[in-house]
Amino acid sequence: MSPVSFKITPMDIMPTFHSHNKPVRKTGQDNSQAWRRLIQILFLGLNVWIGLQFAIFVHYFESGGSGVRFSRPPGVEGWLPIAGLMNLKYFLTTGSVPSIHPAAMVLLVAFLSISIIFRKAFCSWLCPIGTISEAVWKFGRKLLKRNWVFPRAIDLPLRSLKYILLALFFYAVVGMSSDAIAAFLWSPYGLVADVKMLYFFRHLSEFAAATLASLLVLSVLFQNFWCRYLCPYGALMGLAALLSPAKIRRNTERCIDCAQCSRVCPALLRVDTLVTVHSAECTGCMECVAVCPADGALQLALPMNRRISPWVMAAGIGIILTVIIGFARWEGAWKSNIPDSTYERLIPQLDQLTHP
Ligand code: SF4
Ligand code: SF4
Repeated sequence: MSPVSFKITPMDIMPTFHSHNKPVRKTGQDNSQAWRRLIQILFLGLNVWIGLQFAIFVHYFESGGSGVRFSRPPGVEGWLPIAGLMNLKYFLTTGSVPSIHPAAMVLLVAFLSISIIFRKAFCSWLCPIGTISEAVWKFGRKLLKRNWVFPRAIDLPLRSLKYILLALFFYAVVGMSSDAIAAFLWSPYGLVADVKMLYFFRHLSEFAAATLASLLVLSVLFQNFWCRYLCPYGALMGLAALLSPAKIRRNTERCIDCAQCSRVCPALLRVDTLVTVHSAECTGCMECVAVCPADGALQLALPMNRRISPWVMAAGIGIILTVIIGFARWEGAWKSNIPDSTYERLIPQLDQLTHP
């Protein structure tokens, strides 16, 4: 007897009518991923531009004041999340805006606000490390035809690592008095913490290089390895996102149970089994919405199923950043109050500066 072969076509998983006689095939094109890519590329480009300006600024002082002069871009403080936490605590306990690295606090508040309104969108729409990480695992999937997933017994404890790291940072910062925070930020190390960070990447130690190489390999093999398991900043954004009214919501009447949403979810969430995605791991990337073939079955929405369109998300992120940074600039709470003479004195002796 010859074997029977079954050939499944896309039409087989796309029934055209539901029990309540509503057509389910999605009509218009979903452009959420185009909007997300645009914001990711713009933000990555902005970070590269900020990094270049800062490197030129530092080089000016390294070369004894010769060469091109750029002013220090305050946005570089987005890469100082601990200083942002310290300054936030300082501001909340004293009511005064810190004068050293205030932009670190302003950006932390802006990213937290985005998370509270639009879920953990910072991670999948803005964060340059998230963007690079996503490109790397997608490259890995193309190259190796798959990404690997840890068994649940390993995945769960690994996922808790980022919360443990976050708790350690919180413990350290919350335990500091406002005087201790001011003393740290006004110390030679605190004043040039941004330059120290630039040096970390420019003069990678063997250990740091091996760690980064290992993370790169793991990111090729596993989806979002860094973000899923190790990033404390993402963990903080995820906790803030628990307050968000915006959630991925599935209409069980329109859903055709094809499970495509679960297959593409970078956070490995079982979207097809949930009515509302509450998880702190959901980044609001909308990949699940983009792939869903059934009209109105899946959307990012506010309560009462008020849909959030991708362009509203993109515009909302832009508006939150503009309003918070604009307000900080207007209030004089954006630029660090560090004179050039401090950089002239400290940059040449940077290697001798150690953590206080
Ligand atoms: S549930 Fe949807 S929006 Fe949330 S992470 Fe998964 S794919 Fe992205
Ligand atoms: S919600 Fe998920 S399971 Fe339901 S139709 Fe859409 S992609 Fe398929």
